[in-house]
Amino acid sequence: MPTYEVLAIRYAHLERTARHNFLGGDEHDGPMPLDYYVWAIVDADRTPGHTARNTVIVDTGFDHDSAQRRGRQIVRPVAEGLTANGISPDKVEHIVISHMHYDHAGNHELFPRARYHLQDAEMAYCTGRCMLEPEVGGVFDAGAVAAMTRKVFEGRVQFHEGDEEIAPGITVHKVGGHTRGMQVVRVFTARGWVVLGSDTAHFYANLEPGRPFPIFDDLAAYVQAQRKALQLASSPQHFIPGHDPLVLARYPGARAGLDGVARVDLAPGERT
Ligand SMILES: [Zn+2]
Repeated sequence: MPTYEVLAIRYAHLERTARHNFLGGDEHDGPMPLDYYVWAIVDADRTPGHTARNTVIVDTGFDHDSAQRRGRQIVRPVAEGLTANGISPDKVEHIVISHMHYDHAGNHELFPRARYHLQDAEMAYCTGRCMLEPEVGGVFDAGAVAAMTRKVFEGRVQFHEGDEEIAPGITVHKVGGHTRGMQVVRVFTARGWVVLGSDTAHFYANLEPGRPFPIFDDLAAYVQAQRKALQLASSPQHFIPGHDPLVLARYPGARAGLDGVARVDLAPGERT
């Protein structure tokens, strides 16, 4: 089985308090900011003669226009974050979109060669009747949905239904819950199976019983999605949440002098 390096690359930030991050609020309403990430899965095999597999990017973030419209702060544009880690966006061939929310599916012109991996149910959801509800549709960006629709007609979308393999050691798994076609990505690393959970849990704290994030399509499915994602991971420590600043605090940096990038294929606290 090939092993991969997995990078969590922060591109944006939002200051907010805890009551916004839990269904029913939080009685201890202190600061609880969100970080925004894209993730990169990189072939870790350095043996001579080995031809490196293509890098797989998970989610594409949002751009400056979108950040301005929604009052988010970009700390390092997605393109810069990738380039700083030796990844040229114009060479990327595979992108997994965990779900179509604006903060996971923007920057749609950044990857001219990429095929996009998406669940059937997500595309149906974000082009269907639920988008008429402002609380649901408002988290999607019509431009990003239109761009993905165009990619369908260009033959650049690879649809998945349920659990499927993208490459040896990289699989996608439909979990639903947060959005109807939400998928997580399972990657084989030197420490075992890491699960990029994306918004299955925005924060580690959303995994605690009775503390879901307040945006979901189906609450029961949300809880079941977390259970399935955790089962796919080698241990709870192998689950990576979607927006938690603790990921950067817990995991080693990718490189000295480069902040905002964590190596989640390594154990928390391990040194690079
Ligand atoms: Zn998100």
